[in-house]
Amino acid sequence: MSDPAGEVKLEVKLEVKQASKEVKESENVAEKYSAMTVSKNTEMNMGELSSAFSAVPTHKPVKKQIQFVEDKQEFSRFPTKAGRRSLSRSISQSSTDSYSSAASYTDSSDDETSPRDKTQVNSKGSSDFCVKNIKQAEFGRREIEIAEQDMTALISLRKRAQSEKPLAGAKIVGCTHITAQTAVLIETLAALGAQCRWTACNIYSTQNEVAAALSETGVAVYAWKGESEDDFWWCIDRCVNNEGWQPNMILDDGGDLTHWMYKKYPNVFKKIRGIVEESVTGVHRLYQLSKAGKLCVPAMNVNDSVTKQKFDNLYCCRESILDGLKRTTDVMFGGKQVVICGYGEVGKGCCAALKALGSVVNITEIDPICALQACMDGFRVVKLNEVIRQVDVIITCTGNKNVVTRDQLDRMKNGSIVCNMGHSNTEIDVASLRTPELTWERVRSQVDHVIWPDGKRVILLAEGRLLNLSCSTVPTFVLSITATTQALALIELYNAPEGRYKQDVYLLPKKMDEYVASLHLTTFDAHLTELSDDQAKYLGLNKNGPFKPNYYRY
Ligand code: NAD
Repeated sequence: MSDPAGEVKLEVKLEVKQASKEVKESENVAEKYSAMTVSKNTEMNMGELSSAFSAVPTHKPVKKQIQFVEDKQEFSRFPTKAGRRSLSRSISQSSTDSYSSAASYTDSSDDETSPRDKTQVNSKGSSDFCVKNIKQAEFGRREIEIAEQDMTALISLRKRAQSEKPLAGAKIVGCTHITAQTAVLIETLAALGAQCRWTACNIYSTQNEVAAALSETGVAVYAWKGESEDDFWWCIDRCVNNEGWQPNMILDDGGDLTHWMYKKYPNVFKKIRGIVEESVTGVHRLYQLSKAGKLCVPAMNVNDSVTKQKFDNLYCCRESILDGLKRTTDVMFGGKQVVICGYGEVGKGCCAALKALGSVVNITEIDPICALQACMDGFRVVKLNEVIRQVDVIITCTGNKNVVTRDQLDRMKNGSIVCNMGHSNTEIDVASLRTPELTWERVRSQVDHVIWPDGKRVILLAEGRLLNLSCSTVPTFVLSITATTQALALIELYNAPEGRYKQDVYLLPKKMDEYVASLHLTTFDAHLTELSDDQAKYLGLNKNGPFKPNYYRY
């Protein structure tokens, strides 16, 4: 029999070990930023900033050509879509989870020519990029300018630090969604001195015009909306394998770029100064590498930083769930019986939004603490089977698999809606609906009616993939928080003196999280209260933070 007390002890031990991997706050560049900020109610002093950056060592660019260690031919042998896949594993789930159906406003799908078959040149004569159509650059520039308006914290970091160039000599290879918001991040990194080569972490999410605008300004972008699997890996390789240019930093979202470099270019990988990873999946892979003793580069886990977890998971989902539901269904949600599976950060955001519309919200949970929270927030906690015949809408937010089964889908009433806001496409057992007796009718983009033999229809959104990423847009302000965190994590890893970070995965130092939050307070004209000396002593805190212990839950 398992010993519950023993399990708890083990978990506590693990957590302590994790916390011990965090960098001592007093040691890092971020602390210098934070100290400046918090003590001056979110205003950073440029003199202090300069000294923070001037403490930073400069790095001479390394001019070494990357060598393939495996058969170079393997690459061109990859078939597209259905056939053999690269590096013994398939295209990642993250690369097919669409970010936004509204991703590209100038989608020239009438032009069927693959960008790989076109020769394009930007106005400066460079052809070191591969995008759908470089002529869309001006339109993409407008998109980037719109995004900048709601990313003022990142822009202010750019303005304050660009004279110091804390990323001078950094050669960053990036694999993220290529949208107007990430363009603001990429251009910030460039303004801080980095050279960037960029590819998309998702085959559907690239805003073509934004990719064109970045290419026009000299960023080597290899990405377009609707890449094949072969294109996906080709683009990654073109970013990494460039004559006379060897990356020394990685910014990844999903772990595909890291995986590619680790497998294909181990000698280059070993020399990387740091990896910044944003996604759950990518972080999981990094921890696996670290556990196996194979991670030879320090990595920063941005996904588990407080600012990411709270804002991306809770507030972003609170804003985007209704957008996704409304765009796809036109349904009125007031008075509807809704079940939200999972009352974690994402579930709490979805519940808050639907409750505000007047839906009758029920929760399913496996964890008594989250279940009790749901009760205290005024929701009924039920088993899905108890309510399945009455429910109008099911939204999964658990990070788990098979939370809604075929048996339950069989018992749902006509016209009910099923969708997922949690993990990938595993939460609803969609595969079980692909049987001969059920008819699938595509009624709109991202909306399928699954029809039972008796005529009953269940409305499945985004084929069980993340509803908000597939069917709505994500608020720019939230992306600004994540992007600012990524920029600071890159600066920290790039400038850290040797030995500060070992070959391991680190959580973002708390002060960096606090600094990211404080930069964003300006948007709301929010003013922090400063601790008096006496109060600081009473609480045992430094007046400049960090203000909470690492285990604080917020
Ligand atoms: P979380 O761990 O805070 O919450 C998940 C909750 O689900 C937990 O309380 C857990 O007890 C519960 N749960 C697990 N299995 C269950 C089951 N079978 N039935 C009912 N409840 C169950 O995680 P989170 O931060 O809320 O994230 C949830 C998922 O959403 C993750 O996969 C995350 O990657 C994803 N996510 C999505 C978005 C988005 O934009 N859609 C944003 C951030 C995160």
